[in-house]
Amino acid sequence: MAETQLQAARSGTVTDAMARVAEREQRAPEAVRQAVADGRAVIPANVGHDALDPMIIGRSFATKVNANIGNSETTSDVETELEKLHTAVHYGADTVMDLGTGSDLDRIRTANVEHSPVPVGTVPVYEAVKRAGSPEDLTTELLLEVIEKQARQGVDYMTIHAGILLEHLPLTEGRTTGIVSRGGSILAKWMESYGEQNPLYQVYDDICVIFGEYDVTFSLGDSLRPGSLADACDEAQYAELDTLGHLTRRAWDQGVQVMVEGPGHVPMDRIAENVERQQDVCDGAPFYVLGPLVTDVAPGYDHITSTIGAAMAARAGTAMLCYVTPKEHLGLPEKDDVRDGLAAYRIAAHAADVANGRPGARDWDDALSEARYAFDWSTQFDLALDPERARSFHDQTLPGDNYREARFCSMCGVEFCSMRIDQDTREEGELDRLTARTDLEASPAAAVNLPPVGVHNGGEVGTDEADVERDRVSNFDAPADSN
Ligand code: SF4
Repeated sequence: MAETQLQAARSGTVTDAMARVAEREQRAPEAVRQAVADGRAVIPANVGHDALDPMIIGRSFATKVNANIGNSETTSDVETELEKLHTAVHYGADTVMDLGTGSDLDRIRTANVEHSPVPVGTVPVYEAVKRAGSPEDLTTELLLEVIEKQARQGVDYMTIHAGILLEHLPLTEGRTTGIVSRGGSILAKWMESYGEQNPLYQVYDDICVIFGEYDVTFSLGDSLRPGSLADACDEAQYAELDTLGHLTRRAWDQGVQVMVEGPGHVPMDRIAENVERQQDVCDGAPFYVLGPLVTDVAPGYDHITSTIGAAMAARAGTAMLCYVTPKEHLGLPEKDDVRDGLAAYRIAAHAADVANGRPGARDWDDALSEARYAFDWSTQFDLALDPERARSFHDQTLPGDNYREARFCSMCGVEFCSMRIDQDTREEGELDRLTARTDLEASPAAAVNLPPVGVHNGGEVGTDEADVERDRVSNFDAPADSN
């Protein structure tokens, strides 16, 4: 039996996958190996997934984004599902989760793995309950059979809802939105029906054996994630998290890679707390969060409410973000929803990577800004996060090749284009002459021209002293009666 990436890393081997990841992340291979060996990062790479271009998920690497795809009872054919896969990868998904619940699941899953250059994740309890007919008819034998089959089909990581225990269910009594995880609600139903412990928890060590054989990575499901701000950070959520920490260590003991899933709906002031708590309880295993949505009031715009939380979570140390589309809570996403959701999440991930000083992250911003200031429209479009959209928005008002070098766009127009005016001023030498005759140090404006502290180098936003100085400056010359 081949070693898992975790076992190889622990024995000091830099695998081909680690070497490839190091190249993609602009990091030393040894740094990658050490992060995998410590469990702080995972390389989801089933030994049977030949089309995979290996990638890594961990808090010290670039933040990753997952897109959910999959069929439902109403739409089910291989071509449609492959088109969804293509759309997700085209718009920048780092992994995809096939959450199919319709028909022909085996053929679709096998085709997805065969064609996907990114890791494919699944939630095997969905297929198991479909085959069983109802949650009450699930058995441990069926769950293991489905998990083993999906591992054999080449799935790279699986959400396993083993952390929700019988003892946790009374803790959800007073919740506003109960149990909102699909897998969690299925397992809770089974436990309530029989008064017995979660079947996935019962056979957890058997699942570890299967995962070790194919090098499938655990994505430990958060069945008790809050589905509303009212339920965020409650006893049920944190009790399950403690179990997930315990399950993380049990998988590591068997040489299996682990990441841990997180919420959900969380107000902005408690997002960092969620990340820090998971990192502490799960000994640094990568955190993989859905959103979180920072308010409940904007159905139709939940790619935005959740992207705010996702950016904050990534900044605080979350390794992978599961995207949310505008259709969240409302319906099955279509192609444009996938595009909007992925763009929003890639912005969140990249913004955090810039702030966290990930190698190469800020270079992208600088290259685009230089092209923008040079009115090099073609390069600006090519560098854009969504080049097709940038090009099309520009060309709606100024189509034609003659505008490719224009020193303005339709936003301000030729006369009021600030960048053109500024460049002309510089070219005419006005700025140099102004600088030569101004004693900035003696000017009352000097206080407001303090340089920004530490925002561009990936370090902390500022020292206490600098923050105090900024407060002083922002109050500079404020009228006494201002309100
Ligand atoms: S017209 Fe305005 S928005 Fe357009 S390039 Fe010039 S400054 Fe930028």
